[in-house]
Amino acid sequence: MNRLAGKAALVTGAGRGIGAAIALAFAREGAAVVLAELDLDMAQRTAAQIEAQTGARALAVQTDVTQAASVQHAVSEGESAFGALDILVNNAGINVFCDPLTMTDADWRRCFAVDLDGVWNGCRAVLPGMVERGAGSIVNIASTHAFKIIPGCFPYPVAKHGVIGLTRALGIEYAPRNVRVNAIAPGYIETQLTHDWWNEQPDPAAAKQATLDLQPMKRIGRPEEVAMTAVFLASDEAPFINASCITVDGGRSALYHD
Ligand code: NDP
Repeated sequence: MNRLAGKAALVTGAGRGIGAAIALAFAREGAAVVLAELDLDMAQRTAAQIEAQTGARALAVQTDVTQAASVQHAVSEGESAFGALDILVNNAGINVFCDPLTMTDADWRRCFAVDLDGVWNGCRAVLPGMVERGAGSIVNIASTHAFKIIPGCFPYPVAKHGVIGLTRALGIEYAPRNVRVNAIAPGYIETQLTHDWWNEQPDPAAAKQATLDLQPMKRIGRPEEVAMTAVFLASDEAPFINASCITVDGGRSALYHD
């Protein structure tokens, strides 16, 4: 409790899934939270639940992370409501899983627009204020696809590799100004995104079981397990962790094979 007391945070894609869990966890720790989300109705429902459960303040702002002006607007709304933003979590992301040679140009652009440009748009919107104040923590939600490849998932891992590169580059650029930029690489986490992927497979139940069988812990992760790591990185408990990535995958990416 109160590990983020007095802080203000903006989380993109916070209407549901990992982003919603992060916003809730931040609020439980005393932060005021801005839910910057494409689907305003969903974000407003989530914000109301967070306020009811925690007593913290939660503001929903319609935001498309692919548009720099939209992200800047969300930051301005957050600053008007809560004062300077101490924490940014670039969480919004989409799966674009294609075969490289049959992928369309539109697929490529859609993936990079959300999964990499979206992260940069977030960073660019908060960095001037953080640099000026000499304090800030940015957490980018990457993926184990940022360093492992599954055939047929192109170009998502390319964009997620880019998220790690962006994290490291900005972490170094602004370290002298006490702005930390880190990433989290989740493995399989049970969210709508994961269910959508299973449901697209010819046998969804078999696809889910195959996913579970791949896991050293014989289960996949929960959004709140990613959120715990985001709280840690965002808080003053990680003052010397910068330009780093913490993997939250139950050990899956360390496994060679059964
Ligand atoms: P979900 O699809 O459940 O949630 C993502 C949220 O982001 C949705 O509310 C979605 O809104 C929103 N969003 C999508 N596009 C935009 C946009 N352009 N602007 C603003 N918001 C947007 O995904 P997860 O919670 O599972 O994933 C969150 C992050 O974690 C992503 O970056 C993903 O790549 C990453 N990740 C997830 C893993 C998993 O197993 N679930 C594993 C590794 C990484 P809407 O519904 O309206 O589109």
